[in-house]
Amino acid sequence: MAHIIDGKVISKQIKDELKEKVAQLKTEGKEVCLAVIQVGNDPASTVYVGNKKKACEYIGIKSLAYEIPEETTEEELLGIIDKLNKDDSVHGILVQLPVPEHIDEEKIINAISPSKDVDGFHPASVGALSIGQKGFVSCTPAGVIQLLKRSNIEIAGKECVVIGRSNIVGKPMSMLLLRENGTVTICHSRTKDLKEVCKRADILVVAIGKPKMIDASYVKEGATVIDVGIHRDESGKLCGDVDFDSVEPIAGAITPVPGGVGPMTIAMLMNNCVEAGMN
Ligand code: NDP
Repeated sequence: MAHIIDGKVISKQIKDELKEKVAQLKTEGKEVCLAVIQVGNDPASTVYVGNKKKACEYIGIKSLAYEIPEETTEEELLGIIDKLNKDDSVHGILVQLPVPEHIDEEKIINAISPSKDVDGFHPASVGALSIGQKGFVSCTPAGVIQLLKRSNIEIAGKECVVIGRSNIVGKPMSMLLLRENGTVTICHSRTKDLKEVCKRADILVVAIGKPKMIDASYVKEGATVIDVGIHRDESGKLCGDVDFDSVEPIAGAITPVPGGVGPMTIAMLMNNCVEAGMN
C-alpha cells in the first residue's frame, strides 16, 4: 500500500503560510496585487480564472480582473500588458492561456516583464531556472517539488524519470529535479524502451497527457509516482496519466487525481505572487 500524497492538505498548508506573509506585508503598508487577463470566454479558462481569484481572496492578495472580448487585437492586449508592467502597484501579471488564434501567444508571454512573470513562462524565467539564477518557476513543476519535500521524500541522488518534455511541465520539472540534485532522465514520444527507463526510477513524474497510460508494469516497487495528468474517463470521472488502481499497490508513494498535483498549481502561483510582492 502506497503512501497517498495529499495535495489538498499540502496546498492548504502553503496557502495558510502565504496568508500570514501577506498579512505581515500589509502591516508594512504593502498590498500584493495580481492582474489576471482573460481574452474571450472559453468555459475552461473561466473556471481556472475563477479559481485563481478565489485563492487570491483567501490569501488576501488583491486581484485585478481584465475580462476582455474575444475580438481584442494583439496590439490592444500588448497595450494592457505594457500599462500593467509600468504600474508599480501591480506585482504579478497573468494572461490566461490559450489566447484566441489571432493573437501570437509567444509575443504575449515575452511582453510580460520577467519581474512580474508569476506563471514563469517568460524566456528569461526559463533561462534563469536552467542556469540556477533567481526567477519565477512554472507553477505545476514547482508544486511537485513541494509535494516531494513536504512528504519527506529525498530527491538528492535519486533516479528521477520525467515522462514529457513540454515547456510548462516536463522541461522545468526536469530542471527543478536536477537543481535538487536528482539524477534526471527525460522521456518523450521518441524514447525507446519507455518501460525499462521508467522502471529505473525512484521518482517517476508522469506528464504525458494520455489517460491511465502508466500502469504497474512501468513502475519499480517502492517508487514515488507523481501524476501530473488530468482527464475525464469514459464515465466522466477525473483521472490522471497513471492507472492509479494498478500502480498504488506497488508504489511507495503516489499522488491521486484529483487531489494530488492539481491543487498545488494554484498554491504555487500564489507563492510566486507573494514573492513578486516582496521584491
Ligand atoms: P503536452 O501534450 O504538451 O506534452 C506531453 C508530453 O508527453 C510530450 O513531451 C510528448 O512527447 C510526451 N508523450 C506523449 N505521448 C507519449 C508516449 N506514448 N510515450 C512517451 N512520451 C509521450 O502536455 P503537458 O505537459 O502540457 O501536460 C501533460 C499532462 O498534464 C496533461 O494531462 C495535462 O492536462 C496535465 N496538466 C496538469 C496540470 C495541473 O495543474 N495538474 C497543469 C498542466 C498540465 P513529444 O514531445 O515527443 O511529443
